[in-house]
Amino acid sequence: MGRTGEHAVVIGASIAGLCAARVLSEHFDRITMFERDHLPERPANRAAVPQGRHVHLLMARGADEFENMFPGLLDDMVRAGVPKLANRPDCIHFGAAGHVLGTKHRLRDEFTAYVPSRPHLEWQIRLRVRALPNVGMVNLGVAEPLFDPATRRVTGVRLEGGDTAAADLVVDATGRGTRLPVWLRQWGFAPPTEETVDVGIDYATHQVRIPDGLFEEKVVVAGASRRQPLGLGMLYYEDGLWGLTTFGTAKAAPPGDFAGMIALADQILPHHVSQALRRGEPVGEVARHKYPTSRWRRYDKLADFPAGIIPLGDSVVSFNPTFGQGMTMTSIQAANLRTVLESGARDVARPLAQLTAKTTYPVWTMNAIGDLVLHNAAGARPWWYRPVGALFDQFLGAAESDPVLAEWFLRRFSLLDSLYMVPSPRLVGRAVRHNMRLWRAERRAAAQA
Ligand SMILES: Cc1cc2nc3c(=O)[nH]c(=O)nc-3n(C[C@H](O)[C@H](O)[C@H](O)COP(=O)(O)OP(=O)(O)OC[C@H]3O[C@@H](n4cnc5c(N)ncnc54)[C@H](O)[C@@H]3O)c2cc1C
Repeated sequence: MGRTGEHAVVIGASIAGLCAARVLSEHFDRITMFERDHLPERPANRAAVPQGRHVHLLMARGADEFENMFPGLLDDMVRAGVPKLANRPDCIHFGAAGHVLGTKHRLRDEFTAYVPSRPHLEWQIRLRVRALPNVGMVNLGVAEPLFDPATRRVTGVRLEGGDTAAADLVVDATGRGTRLPVWLRQWGFAPPTEETVDVGIDYATHQVRIPDGLFEEKVVVAGASRRQPLGLGMLYYEDGLWGLTTFGTAKAAPPGDFAGMIALADQILPHHVSQALRRGEPVGEVARHKYPTSRWRRYDKLADFPAGIIPLGDSVVSFNPTFGQGMTMTSIQAANLRTVLESGARDVARPLAQLTAKTTYPVWTMNAIGDLVLHNAAGARPWWYRPVGALFDQFLGAAESDPVLAEWFLRRFSLLDSLYMVPSPRLVGRAVRHNMRLWRAERRAAAQA
């Protein structure tokens, strides 16, 4: 690999920071990661990553990207007990925007889903990054990057204790709470404009022990819809416990205790699953988390940006968590970083921001349409969102009983094949014909009744 520089610093050792360090390890002599939070030796929740207590879906595309960066990761996770689901319809109950997919038929071309808990996935990746000979991990916070106004570049970081570390490149992987826009202003640069959608998500999560053998599914997802602002996700994890997350959209409050969660399950889950949940035993306390706003910082649109620093992961874009895409989109950003470094570009920030805008746009836009049209969120709403949202609702309705449409949706939803969720005219025609047939059959049945 071409050498880009001698020393790189990564601020933050969560998913984005770990992926950044892996990619940089091929292009820099040394990488130092600074992480403020205590990093446990075993899979465990971390104070600085409060979302880790809530169910995290790993999309099939994310599993592929992580495996590319860390060969052997998926097999090792399975050896450690992480469920690997080869037969999606039997193992996964999937409801989106009020439509349930995959229960009335088998998909033709099934694909594999891995279900690690968030602490387990991060720990597995951390083990691999720790094993890289040129990466060091230091348990210290970074106070701020060092900026040299003469050369208009970031030259290192000042640590919270006051020491400094020089670097050819600094990666901001500090997550949604990043201070990079503030630092840019202090250094005389404009901060990025932001695209936002006020999704008003509220999470409540319990760990639950459910006796074995009561039902087949290992992943149960019932997304919110226009009529039902509450949703629920249940994932069976490697520790033998279920993560049970209930959530509200558009500021609706999810149930805050186990009895309320069961009552919601009775309304929105298949009967056999909610009955099994009734026999479950909650473990520990309920965890709560509010996520008011999805946010995309448009670094790609800045005309002027300092050299020597790049943002990565949630610090660039954080997606509505109920769609389960954040870690996967972070892995895609890391793949973008690898592409840019391998191209030998001297200025990393601009091509990376542009590539990441390209991979972010389709997913951000589809989420925004879903949130604004189908989930009552607040935000800028171009005129074409409503017809596209309505068309998608039709498409999902048809996908409930058409395996070709269901398969197309589930592959795209898992971010496989393409990040664009635009069905071809042939598929749209198929959905419309399918719905017309259903509608005619319903009318005939009503006339005969
Ligand atoms: C409720 C919720 C549910 C989610 N569910 C899913 C899901 O189902 N699937 C999915 O793929 N994604 C999900 N996500 C998103 C996912 O958690 C993130 O996309 C992912 O963690 C990537 O984040 P990150 O590494 O950029 O930042 P973070 O995970 O937020 O980590 C930032 C790190 O930086 C450190 N740090 C911050 N400042 C400093 C500093 N100054 N010095 C040193 N260290 C610092 C922090 O301690 C932390 O370790 C969810 C998010 C939320 C909020």
